[in-house]
Amino acid sequence: MRPVLATLLLCVFLAASAAPAADAARASCAKASLAIAVDAGHGPKVPGATSARGAPEYDFNLRLARDVVAALAAAGFPKAFLLDPKGSDLPPAARAARANTAKAGLLVSIHHDSVQPQFLETWSVDGRNRRYCDRYAGYSLFFSTRNAFAGQSLALAKEIGRELTAAGLAFTRHHAADLPGERRELVDDAVGVYRYDGLAVLAGAHMPAVLVEAGVIVNRDEEIALSGPQRRQKTAQAIARAVAVWCDGEKGR
Ligand SMILES: [Zn+2]
Repeated sequence: MRPVLATLLLCVFLAASAAPAADAARASCAKASLAIAVDAGHGPKVPGATSARGAPEYDFNLRLARDVVAALAAAGFPKAFLLDPKGSDLPPAARAARANTAKAGLLVSIHHDSVQPQFLETWSVDGRNRRYCDRYAGYSLFFSTRNAFAGQSLALAKEIGRELTAAGLAFTRHHAADLPGERRELVDDAVGVYRYDGLAVLAGAHMPAVLVEAGVIVNRDEEIALSGPQRRQKTAQAIARAVAVWCDGEKGR
């Protein structure tokens, strides 16, 4: 073998072996075989935030997560699945581990948002005091640079943001506020993508992963919208469209 050809072949071999993980993720973006884990955040026992009218966040998350699975199936992803259909109140890292065990090629974690306690006011609903905040509304999207596929996660988050924006939804900027518990870097202030490295469900996932806060359930008007099938469908279909666009982009890179 001529030295030049041998060197060339060695370079090709090294280039191919340098990025096996990214190649595997790209190759797995065949719609028919891409396993997409959809995580309904929190669980029945520890349900996350409480809405302005006293409903648990987990109920919102589970309803939307089911609709996202259905929308993905309708968009040509038959292997989308609910990560924990029984609702076992898994801690965030255990959700990532479960997606890893299931060999998911993508993880989407569904949540509904609240605000810092100092912004909450009190009103009465059916004779009970409830906490609300009408100051903030809208979705937000998160990715973690600790995820091994941070670039692909960010690309998907942006795509979801573009689809939600195209569907007429706005994002909330309150996670970028200079306050304890917030101060998240708004990496895309056109479509609402934040960096949040410490989110264990994203950081521990061995596949691209995005967390979706679908809206602010402590906002009295947005809670009503988020409770209804129209907003849920709009969000679920936007996510499914975004995954399809992202997936096509992955194959073409
Ligand atoms: Zn949550």
